[in-house]
Amino acid sequence: MPPQETRVVVLGGGGVGKSALTVQFVRNVFVSTYDPTIEDTYRKPIVIDGQHCLVEILDTAGTEQFMALKELYMRSGQGFVLVFSLTQLGSVNELGPLREQIVRIKDKQVPIVLVGNKSDLKSERQVPREIGTNLSRAWGNVPYYEASARKRINVDEIFADIVRQCRVHEARN
Ligand code: GDP
Ligand code: MG
Repeated sequence: MPPQETRVVVLGGGGVGKSALTVQFVRNVFVSTYDPTIEDTYRKPIVIDGQHCLVEILDTAGTEQFMALKELYMRSGQGFVLVFSLTQLGSVNELGPLREQIVRIKDKQVPIVLVGNKSDLKSERQVPREIGTNLSRAWGNVPYYEASARKRINVDEIFADIVRQCRVHEARN
């Protein structure tokens, strides 16, 4: 039997570390200079709860020329990783509209994981943990992770969580 495929979309403002998290997860390296305009799809086979699974990740770059294109990938995505940077308070505010759009296109139960990235930059931190946990509560208790693509903290956990949520969601629908 071929492994079950799960389509995950990584979204968030520019420079928050979407590509760094994705590449760290898929290739086990920290890429510090990734072209911010590159939008690409990555695949990684993983085992979740003893089951083989192929994760397909769309690392978005916010460069869609047409709204329709964005709608298209939101429609085809099964789970969404919404990323902000712990070092940039403004990056939190970019996620609200994105989440609203996802919920409108999918449904309220859509699998989402909220991520505050760059936790290694402790002295540059602008976003206290409570802002993340409050947002997670406002979104119906979606899981919230503080992560570091650079130090590979919570990277596997984020993607395992979203794949697990997708499994549960697909089983219900
Ligand atoms: P994207 O636009 O969201 O895809 O962001 P990138 O992945 O291209 O990262 C933007 C910048 O932040 C790059 O210079 C990365 O090196 C840096 N960066 C990304 N993640 C981390 C992290 O966890 N820690 C640190 N210190 N820098 C990071
Ligand atoms: Mg990028």
